[in-house]
Amino acid sequence: MNQKLSGHCHCGEVKWAYPLKLESATACNCTLCSRHGAIWAYGYLEDGIQISGKISYYERGSKINQYSFCSNCGCMMYYKSNKKNENGQIRIAVNLRMIDQPALIQNLPIDHFEGLESFEDLPRDHRCIKDLWF
Ligand SMILES: [Zn+2]
Repeated sequence: MNQKLSGHCHCGEVKWAYPLKLESATACNCTLCSRHGAIWAYGYLEDGIQISGKISYYERGSKINQYSFCSNCGCMMYYKSNKKNENGQIRIAVNLRMIDQPALIQNLPIDHFEGLESFEDLPRDHRCIKDLWF
């Protein structure tokens, strides 16, 4: 997937642009991701992922990440790390539920992350993005 992807919240205030080649998406079953039903596309801010619009954010317990949502309509848009990694990069993930071009990514595989107990990637189970949309 080399085409630049974009997304916006329900009211249109917050937008993201994702310029990276996307080969899979991540679904996590942690107490926060499962409540939002988010489907994440990862990258680093330094890769050129762009965000615009007025957001509010939530930091859970250890404040490792900022979970950012539209201040107006409440859509979960992205989350990003509060700390740079060892390479000086900020990890970010945009929520593919907001995508403007769903047909472009619907057949990409889902990577399931077990975020409740073991914090590990689970084997792929042949589900793809379109299987989670409905
Ligand atoms: Zn909005």
